[in-house]
Amino acid sequence: MNNENWEVIIIGGGSGGLSAALTLVRARRRVLVIDSSSPRNRVSSHMHAVLGHDGKPPLQLLAEGREEVARYGGVVRSGAVVATTAVNGGFSVECSDGETFTARALIIATGLEDQLPEIEGLGELWGSGVAVCPYCDGYEVGDGRIGILATGPGSTFQAQLLRQWSPQIVYLENEVGVPTVEAGSGLAARGIEVVSGAVARVLSSNGQLTGVELTSGAHISLDAIFTAPRFAPRDEPLRKLGADRTEFPWGSFATVDAAGRTSVPGVWAVGNVVDANAGVSVTIGAGALAGGMLNHELILEDIQVAVTAMAEVNE
Ligand SMILES: Cc1cc2nc3c(=O)[nH]c(=O)nc-3n(C[C@H](O)[C@H](O)[C@H](O)COP(=O)(O)OP(=O)(O)OC[C@H]3O[C@@H](n4cnc5c(N)ncnc54)[C@H](O)[C@@H]3O)c2cc1C
Repeated sequence: MNNENWEVIIIGGGSGGLSAALTLVRARRRVLVIDSSSPRNRVSSHMHAVLGHDGKPPLQLLAEGREEVARYGGVVRSGAVVATTAVNGGFSVECSDGETFTARALIIATGLEDQLPEIEGLGELWGSGVAVCPYCDGYEVGDGRIGILATGPGSTFQAQLLRQWSPQIVYLENEVGVPTVEAGSGLAARGIEVVSGAVARVLSSNGQLTGVELTSGAHISLDAIFTAPRFAPRDEPLRKLGADRTEFPWGSFATVDAAGRTSVPGVWAVGNVVDANAGVSVTIGAGALAGGMLNHELILEDIQVAVTAMAEVNE
């Protein structure tokens, strides 16, 4: 497989990478997708707010995407990329099993890792009772008793956001507190209960979230918890290649333009690796746009090569 003359290697075969691949293979480009099969929403049994796929298991969407890419000759290889290097006007990519591949251009679509607060029981319920995105999981717990586990100054707004889904919102201060008097008044004015004290553990019964226990020993009954994890983009390739970065309040991400171009010519990036807030639909759109725009750039290069070759023949 490594002798193929790949035009584009896509690192990461989640919804962003596969969408870019589909556009490129339908443009008759030779595309290799390398994927370590650990998409961010793998913990969820169903996804929501994805038009035409609402309620579908996320892994089913990706299996269908792989089939669609393969139908047009794209290759999806299992594996983890461990090194990415610029070589001879293109790029070399090395997998953990030592195999290397080269291509004219790269799309990085490796997603991000959600780093949850270290609280007993929280991680086990991530994706089934503990969530981040109300548009993905809010409707299913509508009118329920929803805890907001504070992790930073934005958590009071997360509580206000969830208030759209339920009148029973409990803001768990944990070690964060309520950052401003104004934020506190907003919570009180919208009937959001504020619970002080650190959370010791998340409680569940038969895999179903039932509440939290504070370090004081008090129990708070809940139907669901929303929290804001720390976002850690899986962007080692972009760091190694020296792509410019932008600092956001929610973390440091490689900078891309609206089409997904990074500051490194020939290197593109889409999805959660550069945009923590992108759901599946946005990520699919970003992948499709990057695939199309990258194809335009490859055509511009192809023209240049053809014009140079023609000039040499005519000399
Ligand atoms: C609990 C939870 C529930 C969610 N529910 C919804 C929902 O209902 N609706 C919705 O729209 N969005 C939902 N999301 C958001 C959704 O997960 C993201 O929008 C989506 O996964 C982003 O796609 P991506 O392609 O950018 O990254 P990912 O889906 O994370 O895919 C990245 C891929 O790259 C691979 N990879 C990483 N590093 C390497 C490497 N070095 N080499 C090779 N491969 C690599 C990974 O294994 C993975 O397969 C949810 C998120 C979470 C956390």
